[in-house]
Amino acid sequence: MFHFLLRTIPRPILIRLSYIFSFFSPVFYGGNKYECPVCEGKFRKMLPYGYDGSAKRENVLCPKCLTLERHRVLWLYLKEQTDFFSKPRKMLHIAPEQPFLGRFRKMKHLDLTTADLFSPLADVKCDIQEMPFEDNTFDVIFCNHVLEHVDDDKKAMGELYRVMKPGGFGIFQVPIDYKRETTHEDPSITSEEDRVKHYWQKDHVRLYGLDYLSKLEAVGFKATRIDVANEVGSELKDRYRLGDSDKVYRVDKL
Ligand SMILES: [Zn+2]
Repeated sequence: MFHFLLRTIPRPILIRLSYIFSFFSPVFYGGNKYECPVCEGKFRKMLPYGYDGSAKRENVLCPKCLTLERHRVLWLYLKEQTDFFSKPRKMLHIAPEQPFLGRFRKMKHLDLTTADLFSPLADVKCDIQEMPFEDNTFDVIFCNHVLEHVDDDKKAMGELYRVMKPGGFGIFQVPIDYKRETTHEDPSITSEEDRVKHYWQKDHVRLYGLDYLSKLEAVGFKATRIDVANEVGSELKDRYRLGDSDKVYRVDKL
């Protein structure tokens, strides 16, 4: 049943139905081979994920909270290597990931503002290329899997830098082709079919390469790549179902 639902229901709707998954998943997926560090559920296997022509990956989607590899590496990083879960901060969360949003809202030490171009659920509806916030407003900004959709990513990065307080940090994950030195971006690639082929998804407008960090640094950030999946060791990497290509990208405004 789950496999059928996953293939046929669009992910945003699936996420709204996640309470059904958290109810049924212990019945179908309960076990102790794998563990999700976000919801702390334990499973005999996770669910498959993949669409838009990208390769379907087996055993990657948490059956309880619907996190993927990229969510789990970020959670582990925040938990093990930062004071995110305790230090009071003014936070901007752009296009908030559903598995995180309810959890962040419950954290009393975070003064959270959500922003999105489309979602009516966001506190502020805005385009990250031109944000309605004062300079130096936020201590922390999450902007994950957004920049690959934005027409002018340099302008968006500059805006993110502008609204971050000095001393603040951000997490800006994007899909990266680690075989590619430079970002692939060609304005003549406009059809959904071509975008899937060149950029991995029909609504992406570029495919980042190894120059992603230098793009972030070009607008003023100090940018760092953290390879959580390979830092935790092979046993936990498999237990948490972490992928090699899902890394944490942290920026600091010094
Ligand atoms: Zn989970």
